[in-house]
Amino acid sequence: MGGSGWQRETDVVVIGAGLAGYCAALAAADAGTRVLLLEKQPAVGGSSVLSGGFFAFAGTDLQQAAGVEDSGARLLEDLKRAGGGQNDERLLKVYIDRQQEAYAWLKKIGMAFKPLQLSSAQSVPRTHPVDPEALISRLRELAAQAGCVDTLLNSPAERLLQDEPRGRVVGVLARIEGRPEKVRARRGVVLAAGGFSRNEQMLREFVPHQARGIRYGGAGNTGDGIRMAWALGAGFRDMAFIKGTFGFHPDAATKEGRNWTKLAVYRGAIAVNKLGRRFVDESKSYKLLGDAVLQQPDAIAYQIFDQSVMDKAADGVPPFDFQSALRRGLLWQAGTLDELARRLGIDPAQLSATINRYNGFVDNGSDEDFGRDGLSTHYGKLTRIERAPFYAYPSSSGLIATYCGLTVDAGTRVLDVFGEPIEGLFAAGELMGGFHGVAYMTGSSLGKCVVFGRIAGQNAARAV
Ligand SMILES: Cc1cc2nc3c(=O)[nH]c(=O)nc-3n(C[C@H](O)[C@H](O)[C@H](O)COP(=O)(O)OP(=O)(O)OC[C@H]3O[C@@H](n4cnc5c(N)ncnc54)[C@H](O)[C@@H]3O)c2cc1C
Repeated sequence: MGGSGWQRETDVVVIGAGLAGYCAALAAADAGTRVLLLEKQPAVGGSSVLSGGFFAFAGTDLQQAAGVEDSGARLLEDLKRAGGGQNDERLLKVYIDRQQEAYAWLKKIGMAFKPLQLSSAQSVPRTHPVDPEALISRLRELAAQAGCVDTLLNSPAERLLQDEPRGRVVGVLARIEGRPEKVRARRGVVLAAGGFSRNEQMLREFVPHQARGIRYGGAGNTGDGIRMAWALGAGFRDMAFIKGTFGFHPDAATKEGRNWTKLAVYRGAIAVNKLGRRFVDESKSYKLLGDAVLQQPDAIAYQIFDQSVMDKAADGVPPFDFQSALRRGLLWQAGTLDELARRLGIDPAQLSATINRYNGFVDNGSDEDFGRDGLSTHYGKLTRIERAPFYAYPSSSGLIATYCGLTVDAGTRVLDVFGEPIEGLFAAGELMGGFHGVAYMTGSSLGKCVVFGRIAGQNAARAV
């Protein structure tokens, strides 16, 4: 579709007002350009505001204060291990080089980090949690203060416009206040429209094996950004690796709300299926655990733990806030293991046998069944499950994010199927492909939104 007869003009159009979109918009504004931020939903925030607020950074003052030794090199190794070596190393290098700057920027804009956490695929505690609602509201405030960022809600971008067939992207066709408008972008367009965990058709096309996973994520995350660039010949990466998140409560499939994921396994819980049997090394990435639970009867497991794990809960840090799950009635408590088993509909003798066998592995320092050797990724000491009361968290696999999509270069320019840049088009956030590879390390998606969102904004502002 060609570009002429513009109804509106700006320097940079950013599509999607989640974390990546805001970071791009603010960076473009800082570079002195005028920005139009288009958001399809009636509210901003996308999946970012629903998230756990976990950021993966390495070598920070928070880690130093907690006595955690970490480095860019170690972070790189963990990302590659989680990604099964399938990651685009150029993108990983950018993250390693820029992650400390992203952390500093978040602090500069006033974000308060909660205590450091150990999380999935991290070989040392590296999760720096923030309150995601506070983050999005601060970004909204900064965009309003910038004076050169116009944010339009209920305004989906529908197509990218090129100056000639296979030419430069010079604007977008958007539906603004219900009317189609051609918006000219004098410098560039940034796609930050998130993933497609809410697009059943795309999920069926790319990951039919995830059919039993619960769908979740921002209501607007229907893959529009990916499809608009696809129409222009953009390449894809990592599409087949989409995975759900283990620890997602099955009620999330039918009820509203947030904070459905609990990860007691990384504090010492085991996971058993409906037959009362373990089925996996629980210290693995929760994306791999997500795949494993889909193979179990009814795609359901229970995270089983005792009071000693409950004592390691972290109030206000969603995946580890077990008390709030108990208050919401999501986490079940019982005075004995037999009582817990009956509540779950599991044979009490089988559950006891499973736990006795596991406790034996803890004592001997060797898990003969699944090779578990730590709380998460070889880190942390396992503990026996023995101190009443006992707890069970029903857990399935939640397809909360897709973490795959458009091929980009290190400067976030979208590349076509032949590896050639599509001029004028940039992409950042969840719809970027290549960064994660096979599976994601906790905190690396929000971290990636800041790192690459800022680069996309800066580069779009410079593009001519
Ligand atoms: C429950 C949950 C917990 C998570 N926890 C973590 C975590 O702790 N750490 C981590 O790293 N990752 C986490 N993730 C993943 C992470 O939140 C997302 O990958 C990330 O927030 C995506 O940010 P984004 O800016 O790319 O997209 P989003 O924040 O989803 O924003 C995209 C925006 O684009 C809008 N949009 C879509 N189409 C259009 C269109 N055509 N026109 C205009 N606007 C459009 C959407 O409505 C949306 O507002 C979690 C995700 C979920 C759902």
